[in-house]
Amino acid sequence: MRMETDLKEGRCKSCNEPIFWIKTKKGNWLPVNRRPMEVYPVQKGGHTFVLVDGSTEQALPVERMRYDGIDSVVAFEAHFATCPFADDFRKKKR
Ligand SMILES: [Zn+2]
Repeated sequence: MRMETDLKEGRCKSCNEPIFWIKTKKGNWLPVNRRPMEVYPVQKGGHTFVLVDGSTEQALPVERMRYDGIDSVVAFEAHFATCPFADDFRKKKR
């Protein structure tokens, strides 16, 4: 399978977890967790995920959802959703 995604290996500067930097379609580099997850896109209340084509999606892991008729996608979860030092990310945005 051909991956068109721009991926760079790295580590989170806050918690030192191994992550990927993934280039989104908007041209930003976003830190994501290395383990791809199967997720359902949702309109509200989801976390930020990045698909392998670089598009971002609000989604939830399939194990937390009970939807029928929605195709799940494989995506990387934005690391700041799970980082124990996520507050650092928010502070830096100021
Ligand atoms: Zn982290």
